Amino acid sequence: MQQSVSFPSGKVDYIFYRKDAYSRPSFEQLMHLYHLQNVVIVTDEHVAKMYEPLLKGHKTLVVPPLESSKDLHTIGALSRQLLDLGADRNTLLIGMGGGVVTDIVGFLASVYMRGVSFGFIPTTLLGMVDAAVGGKNGVNLGLNKNLIGTITQPKFIFYDTAFLQTLPNIEWSNGFAEIIKYACIFDSQLFDELSANNISHYKDDSEVLISLIERCVAWKNKTVTEDEKETGVRKLLNFGHTAAHAIENMYELPHGKAVAIGMVIACMLSEQITHLGKDATVRVKALLQLYHLPVSHAINAAKAMEILKADKKRKGDHIDYIVLEKIGQAAVRPLPFDVIENALKEYASHN
Ligand code: ADP
Ligand code: ZN
Repeated sequence: MQQSVSFPSGKVDYIFYRKDAYSRPSFEQLMHLYHLQNVVIVTDEHVAKMYEPLLKGHKTLVVPPLESSKDLHTIGALSRQLLDLGADRNTLLIGMGGGVVTDIVGFLASVYMRGVSFGFIPTTLLGMVDAAVGGKNGVNLGLNKNLIGTITQPKFIFYDTAFLQTLPNIEWSNGFAEIIKYACIFDSQLFDELSANNISHYKDDSEVLISLIERCVAWKNKTVTEDEKETGVRKLLNFGHTAAHAIENMYELPHGKAVAIGMVIACMLSEQITHLGKDATVRVKALLQLYHLPVSHAINAAKAMEILKADKKRKGDHIDYIVLEKIGQAAVRPLPFDVIENALKEYASHN
């Protein structure tokens, strides 16, 4: 299936590859589709090794498969390599990999020569349902996640769930953290569906998996087309992410695990702020555990708070926090630092 979505900053083609539906496009075909004259692929060391035959004969730049690759140093180094390869405004940059790669490539492409065309081939579940979608890109500044970046849409996102066959279990769980997020904030029916199934159910049936991915992409696109610059409804997608961003780099947690912990903290805050029932928190925790995600972790609340104070969602001594009103419905509430710090302490005291 191919579908175009128009965002204020540009149109994105979503290309869902289904076996037997049509042949998989080559990198050159994608390049010609967008009237470009050459293509450079950026990927990480794992993906480059696993998919070597696919990349053979193509100009490929490779970054270490680590969150620490998401820094300005990498952007400088890749820009230099692009220059050496003769990349210019006629070049299509393709980011093929997980969220680390697509975040780097989106940012690199939006600043290299003041902007070149780019597309994504997400190869992780998390990348497919979230990281590659919506135009946000960027790199970290020390412990501050995604502090430097832009909102620039790729020309296309190419989906091929065959990549997920090589994905380790832990990365399946990380992807499900974002899927559970969509269920919590928008889609109680999806929450029930997820609660009645498990990872294998989706992993073993590519049609079921593609439908799940499409459903999440549709939620994200609906939100981002309404509010690309995140002044309103897009903020809801940060459910679980405020605390996650504080603890993720501090404890070197995979993003999905940090988000799972962040969603539990957000549910605890919601009990106070919106009177979310305790039973809802219990259901969210159970769902996270069903998808092998953590619900508890020892955290240093004071240190986490220091990082939170540099959060992009900070407004004076408040942070716009995403709370649940009920499963399937979220709201933005500006919360004072001390309320957040108390919740972090309470969470820490339970672990
Ligand atoms: P995310 O997409 O979760 O943000 P990363 O970009 O950090 O995450 O990717 C997570 C890990 O999965 C990295 O080690 C990356 O090399 C690896 N990876 C990416 N795609 C695949 C794949 N299709 N099969 C196996 N491992 C992959
Ligand atoms: Zn996320």
